[in-house]
Amino acid sequence: MFSKILIANRGEIACRVAATARRLGIATVAVYSDADALAAHVQACDQSVRLGPAPARDSYLRGELIIAAALATGAQAIHPGYGFLSENADFAEACAAAGLVFIGPPAAAIRAMGSKSAAKTLMQDAAVPLVPGYHGDRQEADFLREQAGRIGYPVLLKASSGGGGKGMRIVDDSADFDAALSSCQREALASFGDDHVLVEKYLTRPRHIEIQVFADSLGHCIYLFERDCSVQRRHQKVLEEAPAPGMSPERRAAMGAAAVAAAQAVGYVGAGTVEFIANQDGSFYFMEMNTRLQVEHPVTEMITGQDLVEWQLRVAAGEPLPVQQHQLSINGHAIEARIYAENPEKGFLPSIGTVTHLRTANAVSFQVQGTASAQPAPIRIDAGVREGDAISPFYDPMIAKLIAWGPDRASALRNMARALAQYQVVGLATNIAFLQRLVSGEAFSNADLDTGLIERHRDTLLPAPTAPALETLAAAAANVLQCEARASAADPWSATDGWRAHGRLRRTLSFTGDAGSHPIDVAYADADQPQTLWHDGQSHVLQFESTHDSDLRLRLDGRVLQATAVHDGELLHVFDSHGHTRLRLLDPLAHAADGETGDDRLTAPMPGKIVAILAARGQHVERGAPLLIMEAMKMEHTIAAPAAGVIDELLYAVGDQVSEGARLLDFRPD
Ligand code: ADP
Ligand code: ADP
Ligand code: MG
Repeated sequence: MFSKILIANRGEIACRVAATARRLGIATVAVYSDADALAAHVQACDQSVRLGPAPARDSYLRGELIIAAALATGAQAIHPGYGFLSENADFAEACAAAGLVFIGPPAAAIRAMGSKSAAKTLMQDAAVPLVPGYHGDRQEADFLREQAGRIGYPVLLKASSGGGGKGMRIVDDSADFDAALSSCQREALASFGDDHVLVEKYLTRPRHIEIQVFADSLGHCIYLFERDCSVQRRHQKVLEEAPAPGMSPERRAAMGAAAVAAAQAVGYVGAGTVEFIANQDGSFYFMEMNTRLQVEHPVTEMITGQDLVEWQLRVAAGEPLPVQQHQLSINGHAIEARIYAENPEKGFLPSIGTVTHLRTANAVSFQVQGTASAQPAPIRIDAGVREGDAISPFYDPMIAKLIAWGPDRASALRNMARALAQYQVVGLATNIAFLQRLVSGEAFSNADLDTGLIERHRDTLLPAPTAPALETLAAAAANVLQCEARASAADPWSATDGWRAHGRLRRTLSFTGDAGSHPIDVAYADADQPQTLWHDGQSHVLQFESTHDSDLRLRLDGRVLQATAVHDGELLHVFDSHGHTRLRLLDPLAHAADGETGDDRLTAPMPGKIVAILAARGQHVERGAPLLIMEAMKMEHTIAAPAAGVIDELLYAVGDQVSEGARLLDFRPD
């Protein structure tokens, strides 16, 4: 076995590999870019080597620098994780040439599976079932359109070198074929430097079912059952589970045998995944093989009790597979949800920023458990992002993987729902609320799975914003009262615009949220007295029970409420039984303060491009008026007026690139 390995990756997967290496007593070397000098993966390793500037092409994709780092630190092997160089055959060869072990399959196997078209030809020869289609060399539009007609519409165009769903186009009709082909080719060329495409029959309501395979260098190859990854957006996985609901032992054995045949056809060694597309009747076809560890490998670890990274290390060191096929069995059910910094409401565009508050359910990290004697933990969280860390525009915006286990699917699902409800992230947009709706929705709960699930249930998964619950507003009000009491030992009421009604001093807290404004009135009372609230014409009694940091325990009309309230800039985030609610408090005092600090918000929050200017020089605008729109990380950001005032000067034009922190305009508050 190795005594030292280099981990050529970042984020959760680098931390994941480091955890297993540590358990096995193997020393680890991290590599990092300038954006990651203090990142979790650097701290998880024994040693670290700087690669270069933040962009991946200047750091994590610099194979020669990574090999030099391994040689300089005396590492014997390189674990590539997933993404980056993990499916790069040239890098695997360069490792070998430098006398280093590449922890992955032989370069020839990576190459053989690197082109979806060439892989399909190989699979045809190995008698692995294929989706009807054309995957040959001819690429003329007329010829491909003819093939599409033969296959029958709808068809799917794919980039042969593709990945991550990029370039894929569904074509419903021959009239649309040429336009779809050129746009597929354009995206393929831009993303993969290769515009070779293939045409496939587009299956309707299919499931994505993949088989985890493992081979050693002694000629053994086995499969570790399946994962169902049907719940996707833009052809990318959102939820993954094992085993696949409704899978019969016979079908499992047939798919397992097909996957093993696929791996053996290319002389595979190490961890790999053979992806199949399956019809609702269970018939299945080879799609592609991913020649690396998969993002969703933890669900397989949870149901088999095996550490797949340990297997990778052992196999790479020349050891045989630790178990034989008949020694593997399925224990319970596991579901993984990918927690992303993204905005589902805005087409799942990535969100960047700093995680200012992060709290999760009790969980194990990166830990593989579950043997005959010990059940797996109900919740595992594999994360590479900690509180205070930033999601930058340079890398994948995944925050963590949340994995729930249970003795059966229903209990795994309950654990997942509970852990999602306890997942608190402030500082950037996340898909957590979307995941909550997804896992509690009827379709997923009933395992009514197919790749169109999200699209079909768009309306319920992405509902229009609704007004916050009274409980949530009460918690927000309680937090504001408490902050004011803390801020001034003096009477907090004296400074505000309190007014008298029914003989009592009363003031309005004007909260605004996604669904508009939600005023709540508060009557004056001593801090230790019950407070009276008015909302929607009703009065309520609010009592403080206890507070601890950002946690509030309240009593509203006698009922106990628990909530966490966190401030982030001018937003107040409330986490309670209604989920995560973002509120803005329009406070007269805050208005006054805005004038002084307003300039801060007129700077670019991140590097990006100006895509629209909505206000003119000399124009007077109200507070909150949109002034300009920036685009960064494919996401639009609106820069709004921090107060009422006048635009003195616009410093950029549409199309200009701006760097982070750049002053965008001169603004004079009234
Ligand atoms: P899987 O098929 O294993 O689920 P995906 O298709 O989601 O994998 O892609 C693998 C993962 O690799 C992505 O989620 C992403 O985190 C990572 N990845 C791929 N390419 C890159 C890259 N160029 N830079 C950073 N991360 C990458
Ligand atoms: P990638 O390399 O981007 O992962 P895949 O070939 O694995 O590309 O396909 C990604 C996803 O696209 C699949 O998981 C599935 O949801 C969908 N898909 C692929 N091929 C078909 C097909 N023939 N019919 C219907 N959906 C498909
Ligand atoms: Mg795929």
